[in-house]
Amino acid sequence: MKILLATSEAVPFSKTGGLADVCGALPVELARLGHDPAVIVPAHRQSSCCGLPIEPLGIDFIVPIGSKTVTGHLLQSKLPEADVPVYLIQQDHYFEREGLYQADGKDYVDNCERFVFFSRAVLETIRLLDLQVDVIHANDWQTGLVPAYLKVEYRGIPRYEQIASLFTIHNLAYQGRFWHWDMLLTGLDWKYFNWRQMEFHGHLNLLKTGIVFADSINTVSPRYSQEIQNAALGCGLEGTLQHRRNVLSGILNGMDTFHWDPAADPNLAARYNATTVSEGKSICKAALQKELGLPVAAGVPLVAFIGRLCDQKGVDLIAKVMQTWAPDQEMQWGVLGTGDAAYHAQLTDLAKRFPRRVAVRLEFDAELAHRIEAGADMFLMPSRFEPCGLNQFYSLAYGTVPVVRATGGLADTVIDATEESIREKTATGFSFTEYSDLALAETLRRALDAYRRKDLWHQLIQTGMKQDWSWSRSAAEYARLYGKTVARRKEAVVS
Ligand code: ADP
Repeated sequence: MKILLATSEAVPFSKTGGLADVCGALPVELARLGHDPAVIVPAHRQSSCCGLPIEPLGIDFIVPIGSKTVTGHLLQSKLPEADVPVYLIQQDHYFEREGLYQADGKDYVDNCERFVFFSRAVLETIRLLDLQVDVIHANDWQTGLVPAYLKVEYRGIPRYEQIASLFTIHNLAYQGRFWHWDMLLTGLDWKYFNWRQMEFHGHLNLLKTGIVFADSINTVSPRYSQEIQNAALGCGLEGTLQHRRNVLSGILNGMDTFHWDPAADPNLAARYNATTVSEGKSICKAALQKELGLPVAAGVPLVAFIGRLCDQKGVDLIAKVMQTWAPDQEMQWGVLGTGDAAYHAQLTDLAKRFPRRVAVRLEFDAELAHRIEAGADMFLMPSRFEPCGLNQFYSLAYGTVPVVRATGGLADTVIDATEESIREKTATGFSFTEYSDLALAETLRRALDAYRRKDLWHQLIQTGMKQDWSWSRSAAEYARLYGKTVARRKEAVVS
């Protein structure tokens, strides 16, 4: 299968979030499975620091943007692990900038124009390089126009006629909404600016455009693909998603098993695997307690959180339970994160009042994150919503029992310890449904009870560490979805 992965960011060329990790890791695994992937990405300023050679191909192209034309240049590189070609679209006015989408916390005013250009460039590159493509895999609002151009402007051109499109939603909360006059920049007919296609409450919506025009759509976990069809998490697009539910599915992201492997992690005080986890973790726990300034006490449970300190992550629930429990519950809390000022203040206050029980680090520290994953007993993720989530993968791999709210990817990865799942040895953690501090507290109590039952705790850790969250598992699922998408397209061509 020949796949062209269109994305606004891909590791190691550019990154602001999880999208870049997916687009750097997935094609490597697809190539290992025998497929033929290529990646196409803007040549952002960040790309020049990726450490890989980037060569000009000596090919220029011109695309229409509203009433003007804009020239771009093609560059080429490779993902080193598997020789996957990467095409970079150079257009310095649009992409030679400090940030990918914003500066000083403000979105660039020409973001729509920049990604109209990129989306058109994706389709032109196929012709310019004579690429054979079975599926274009577009991602998030930045490439939402790609399936639309394919369907509206490139249909009828032989090379494009059979190309299918898959559109992946990594986070529905980011939609690429622009004022209606930006419709002129797209060059598409105003007839598409209606509530069933590109319009959303008077605005142009590029995420919605991708959802409407792609042959298949997916999200980064099966549960999230269901949840976004309801008003609570649908961000206003639930109707559009329901309408397309027959072609909507979910595939869990994989995790980076190279950098997140407790048996080879250079950040840890001791390395361990499933056989040596008891000794390894107790060394890591003592080292972490020391590093965080907490009393070194093997028998006191240590609960951790790492992430953005924002409403999405359920930090309000954590702070409430901490506040209630810290005065007299013999346990320790370790928090690493940055985010909203109100949470910074609240957590700092708790750490000051209960220095023997609460440790808070308000910073981004990738190495400490590894040591927390290894040294903590439990890991909290009481998110309001979570398209996939990464920390629960790391926790499971590091023998740290996750306590999560059953939403999105968390619901798909953590199996709650019930009587039945414990008996069947499938339980990997603890989860709750209702978004409330009481529900979190009750679930933490269950986890603390289990922590005191040594055999049960050991069983949870072992079951968690055995799970396979590698990218090869996800890539095999993507390969199946590409197959279905191509079949869908073929049916449409015939009918
Ligand atoms: P999201 O992408 O919604 O922020 P994820 O769980 O998918 O959440 O991924 C976040 C990643 O960033 C995780 O690997 C997490 O460990 C890491 N991370 C977040 N905040 C910090 C921090 N303050 N220090 C170190 N790593 C962090």
